[in-house]
Amino acid sequence: MSKTIIVSNRLPTKVLRTDDGLSFQPSEGGLATGLGSIYREGENLWLGWPGLFVHDEAEEAHIAEQLRADNMAAVFLTEDEIRDFYEGFSNSTLWPTFHYFTEFATYLDEHWAAYVAVNEKFCAAVLEHAGPDDIIWVHDYQLLLLPELLRQARPRATIGFFLHIPFPSYELIRVLPWRTELLRGMLGADLLGFHTFGYMRHFLSAVSQQLGLPNQNGQIETPSHTVRVDAFPMGIDYERYATAAASEEARSHVAAYREALQDTRIILSIDRLDYTKGIPQRLRAFNQLLERYPEWRGQVSLIMVVVPSRDQVAQYASLKEEVDELVGRINAQYRTISWSPVHYFYRSFPLAELAALYSMADVGLVTPLRDGMNLVAKEYVACRLDRRGVLILSERAGAARELSDALIINPTDTRQLTEALHDALVMSDDEQERRMRAMQALVRRYNVFSWTRLFMNQLAYTKMKQETLA
Ligand code: UDP
Repeated sequence: MSKTIIVSNRLPTKVLRTDDGLSFQPSEGGLATGLGSIYREGENLWLGWPGLFVHDEAEEAHIAEQLRADNMAAVFLTEDEIRDFYEGFSNSTLWPTFHYFTEFATYLDEHWAAYVAVNEKFCAAVLEHAGPDDIIWVHDYQLLLLPELLRQARPRATIGFFLHIPFPSYELIRVLPWRTELLRGMLGADLLGFHTFGYMRHFLSAVSQQLGLPNQNGQIETPSHTVRVDAFPMGIDYERYATAAASEEARSHVAAYREALQDTRIILSIDRLDYTKGIPQRLRAFNQLLERYPEWRGQVSLIMVVVPSRDQVAQYASLKEEVDELVGRINAQYRTISWSPVHYFYRSFPLAELAALYSMADVGLVTPLRDGMNLVAKEYVACRLDRRGVLILSERAGAARELSDALIINPTDTRQLTEALHDALVMSDDEQERRMRAMQALVRRYNVFSWTRLFMNQLAYTKMKQETLA
């Protein structure tokens, strides 16, 4: 009987060191929810870094044992590895390059060496647990070399890979000194999944131009096996958000916020602090809205939640300063004693509060310059139980391929974004409802559970076809 092993950089549980000893906190991220039904079953397993540094063998054994009881296995990483593999190659080379920010990318041999070494470390950890016929599903840009490493060690294994960020045009990929190794690493998989057809096409084109391997209907023949490439747009746990928005707790938050804001209209934006998210662009558009349409002054506020992220990487610190300054300038210019243009929060919120904010926002404003998918857009839709509210969505988020009933904008076109904000604020209830209804049907149906099922079924089918043809 084969088992399924999920592999990602981080485990779905975060281990923290507290005054009372170690604490194990389950993550409620989308991936953890979507794959929960898989890794918890039978002998299945999720393998990854538990999020803390351990220097003592007894503690390592204790953590491993605790995780094991919940079908997880830890890959322990050192401070140097996190610096060079994670903050270095993953977040300072691959992340900017794959999001079209080559000007932020560094190309350091020592970061590459750490990336190779950590991918090998993950491979060794998987091999400790994997039998020859197991199904292994590898996730995301931190582990691009792992499919090929696993293929060499377990030629018969069923290997899937999903990329959670964009796959850019070959013109970006070719800038990377290690482009050949990275593409070959991915091709170790039997099935490669991307969020959109666009990303998939970019990958096929890169493989063809860089490695000279053509594709036929998304199938690539490598010397060792056939690789299938396909698009699987990831969804959310729709019911979880809809239920949270309907909960007593969320309703009492809504009541408190309403009390404070009175009848001010609300534009909401929520994201991690990241230069890919278009945060300054959105602030400039909001500023222009107040400038060009003075009737909105005193009538509408931007509630902006920015979750701290990657503060060890230089660009993130300067982005934080830019955002602080823009918010300060807008508020200083327009605020009155009874009204703040921008309510800016630099911290994360628990689910009930997020759901409350989503459920009362007249406009959900999602303006990334590049974003693999963007789950916030889908969460906003799921929380609008009254089918009101308008989603403004960047054309360069993966979600825009599905959510065509949003107001789709180019986030660098400040004028267009400003007009979209105005249009959203004056949109009739009927039109809001028509658009929201269509988006809800889609987000509810193509949720994270159907995403998991589709990928796993396609992986099994791909393997079966390979074996019948062999
Ligand atoms: N989120 C959160 N706490 C917050 C704000 C946001 O947990 O205070 C979540 C949000 O609900 C969403 C995720 O962070 O599920 C962001 O995912 P997205 O795909 O939009 O962007 P990413 O951060 O993965 O680039």
